Amino acid sequence: MNKKVFLTGDRPTGRLHLGHFVGSLKNRVEMQNSGLYEPYIFIADMQALTDNAKNPKKIQDNIKEVAIDYLSVGIDPSKSTIFVQSQIPELTELTFYYMNLVTVSRLKRNPTIKTEIIQRGFGESVPVGFLTYPISQAADITAFKADFVPVGEDQAPLIEQCKEIVHTFNATYGDVLKMPEIYLSNNDVCKRLPGTDGKAKMSKSLGNCIYLADDSETVYKKVMSMYTDPNHLKVEDPGNVEDNAVFTYLDAFATDEHFSKYMNEYNNLDELKEHYKRGGLGDVKIKKFLYQILEEILTPIRAKRAYYEEHLDEVYKMLQDGSKRARMVASDTLNEVRNAIGVNYFD
Ligand code: ATP
Ligand code: MG
Repeated sequence: MNKKVFLTGDRPTGRLHLGHFVGSLKNRVEMQNSGLYEPYIFIADMQALTDNAKNPKKIQDNIKEVAIDYLSVGIDPSKSTIFVQSQIPELTELTFYYMNLVTVSRLKRNPTIKTEIIQRGFGESVPVGFLTYPISQAADITAFKADFVPVGEDQAPLIEQCKEIVHTFNATYGDVLKMPEIYLSNNDVCKRLPGTDGKAKMSKSLGNCIYLADDSETVYKKVMSMYTDPNHLKVEDPGNVEDNAVFTYLDAFATDEHFSKYMNEYNNLDELKEHYKRGGLGDVKIKKFLYQILEEILTPIRAKRAYYEEHLDEVYKMLQDGSKRARMVASDTLNEVRNAIGVNYFD
């Protein structure tokens, strides 16, 4: 059977958080373990440099952190090719050819880029590399002929951009590139998990994260200070479950089993929500419940992290081996691309 390829990555701008976990990591691990896919998972250090050029140390340090997070959540190097973007120079050459197929105005209209330019406070001083990172992302995806890209919803405009490049390339030079499809979580709140501050997206750059590596006490503090309904002042007050980050997290993480284990006076989340809406249910009680659920998820991840922190040589070896394998695949695609464009003068 011909396995479908999936490819996805993360920027080494910090450790991975619960947004990554529900938005993308969980899907990757399930897809990896299904045996139906050929997974490529990479650390996008060159993309991270596009808005951190003056701070390469941060990127360098976080490569190992992200790699440890991968291994800790169950990404398995015997089933998935895990690599570092900068170690595959073929990706840069592909990017340069694709750059001619995209206009500057199209990049500036990309909703993800527009939001990120504001978030990062670039104003008029947007680095060229940052504006063009969607093109480099298209190179990452197409180099491995990915069928699927499991990502959070913020990435949708970037996958659209990639599809346009594939379309234009194939129409111009012949059918070489594979058309990828986005692969989103089927749980709506997981597509874009809000921050603990209730803001639109949990994001390393916004400082509103619960990290997979946070210890128990830190998780407790973060959950206890989470944003809820600002009008739910007294326990008796009726509460709002919409725009209430604690309930959004319960939507993402709570199962009926969690109720029977930790809160058996309710059968499921709907019953808990009804009580909160009626009034008579305090925030602390639901926050403690959320904390218990998160602890159940994070405890085994922390244990694996502790192992890999002590075995960094294994981590780097895994990245090096994966990068070697990935480079061979990217190099084959680059050859096809060069042939299609006709820059193979001496063959
Ligand atoms: P940065 O702030 O540096 O951009 P980030 O937290 O947005 O970091 P990325 O490395 O850009 O993380 O994203 C990696 C993957 O995780 C992408 O597929 C992205 O869509 C997904 N992701 C990130 N944050 C969330 C979130 N809050 N909810 C769901 N998915 C998310
Ligand atoms: Mg991001």
